[in-house]
Amino acid sequence: MMTLPAHRKTVTLPDRAPTIMWFRDDLRLMDNPALCDAAARGPVICLYIHDPAFPLGGAEKWWLHGALTALDHDLGACGGRLWIMAGDSRENLSWLVGQTGAEAVVWNRRYGPHARQVDADIKAALKARGIDACSHPGNMLHEPWQVRTKQGTPFRVFTPWWRAVQAMGAPLPPLPAPVRTTFAPVPPAVADRLVAVPDLALLPVRTDWAGGLRGQWQPGEAAAHARLDSFVAEQVHGYATRRELPAQPATSGLSPYLRFGHVSARQIWHAVDATGQGDQDTACFLSEVGWRDFAQSTLFDFPDLGTTNLRSEFNSMPWRHDPAALRAWQAGKTGYPIIDAGMRELWHTGWMHNRVRMIVASFLTKHLLTDWRAGAAWFADTLVDADAASNPFNWQWVAGCGLDAAPYFRIFNPVSQGEKFDPAGEYVRKWVPEIARLPDKYIHAPWKAGSVAPAGYPPPIVDLAGGRARALAAWKSL
Ligand SMILES: Cc1cc2nc3c(=O)[nH]c(=O)nc-3n(C[C@H](O)[C@H](O)[C@H](O)COP(=O)(O)OP(=O)(O)OC[C@H]3O[C@@H](n4cnc5c(N)ncnc54)[C@H](O)[C@@H]3O)c2cc1C
Repeated sequence: MMTLPAHRKTVTLPDRAPTIMWFRDDLRLMDNPALCDAAARGPVICLYIHDPAFPLGGAEKWWLHGALTALDHDLGACGGRLWIMAGDSRENLSWLVGQTGAEAVVWNRRYGPHARQVDADIKAALKARGIDACSHPGNMLHEPWQVRTKQGTPFRVFTPWWRAVQAMGAPLPPLPAPVRTTFAPVPPAVADRLVAVPDLALLPVRTDWAGGLRGQWQPGEAAAHARLDSFVAEQVHGYATRRELPAQPATSGLSPYLRFGHVSARQIWHAVDATGQGDQDTACFLSEVGWRDFAQSTLFDFPDLGTTNLRSEFNSMPWRHDPAALRAWQAGKTGYPIIDAGMRELWHTGWMHNRVRMIVASFLTKHLLTDWRAGAAWFADTLVDADAASNPFNWQWVAGCGLDAAPYFRIFNPVSQGEKFDPAGEYVRKWVPEIARLPDKYIHAPWKAGSVAPAGYPPPIVDLAGGRARALAAWKSL
């Protein structure tokens, strides 16, 4: 397991004005360009602002509690601490600059429309006060504007985009954590306004639904690198063939660590490249990391990605409003085992295997003819890796309304998908225990089991052929 490098604490009080390192979705010390910049300038204030203008889902909040605790701990090991404030980012930063006499504020970029607007406002306001405000590359292999068509326009299709990325060569090599950081002391007036992680009330209170998340995940930079190291050493071999099987621990599980920036895409790229394997497994894995960059770039170039169909003909799609069906899908009680297994895995662990995400999303948007935004909202609340780009990008991809989307008429049959990707029913048996004793031939279609069908498992909420025909008719009506 990789350990974070030891820092040297400087004990003399700084005589230079401090620089504020504003942490956001980059909760790490290594390969953190803004933190390196701040440390090189002089004394550093490490700041996180919990801003209600950036609402988080329940699972993300749970993760953030652990993530901030881990970052504060890692900074503490270097002689520093994380200053946490709650409320409006603009107002808090402006106040803190005044109280501390900071001469600069630095951060790593975010790509969502609201975040970009806030950052631009803050940069303008700071510059107007003569304070330096400096943004650095965010958590992508390359910045969105660096990968363009020959005409200088954004790519709309993944394959040529990925070819262009590969032609650019290796992304920037990851930076080490700054080795010598001086931390600014907390002035008394500021101390009164700082909050501790528990004050943010990020953990569930009335019902503790997070037991499954605690059992599965350890937020933080050290855990991210432990996972990356073991994936590169043990799992990347065979990734291309095994990654589609949800019962296998074949994928990296790095998505929440990327979401919160405990690890950077550049670190992952270089760790995989350093294996020297250069085969179809590493190529396949890196192209998945590429999909993440493509989703971020799409959000950058099409800021309405999260709310609006990228193909406008879908604006007249006759989506159905069926709250009971939506609730059955959310609760994993549709009567289709692969769907129910996926939705229960999501609820229990805050994560779902990618193949199953595609199957459940297809089922919701096609067999149940429900607007993809309802599915994306549920994922945003329940995924620990819920991401403002990857979540709507993939929903639009499955629903057919994305730029480079799967065609709407490609409708996954949950029974045949289950038989193909979970042939022995191992995944379904784990998450849907009430049908665990069914023989293999009925495990993906329990209603066919007749007298041996277990009581307590719901019958299918929609007829597959009827749902498919209804979806195709709706699509043809566009
Ligand atoms: C409907 C739907 C919603 C999704 N919502 C999210 C989301 O909110 N956040 C999220 O990170 N991923 C999302 N994904 C993509 C994908 O399912 C997850 O990234 C993946 O399952 C994470 O597991 P892993 O880290 O083990 O992936 P691995 O197979 O190990 O892949 C490595 C990394 O590549 C990236 N990646 C892989 N597949 C994709 C993809 N299709 N799109 C974008 N990036 C990808 C992830 O960052 C992942 O960590 C969604 C997919 C679908 C079909």
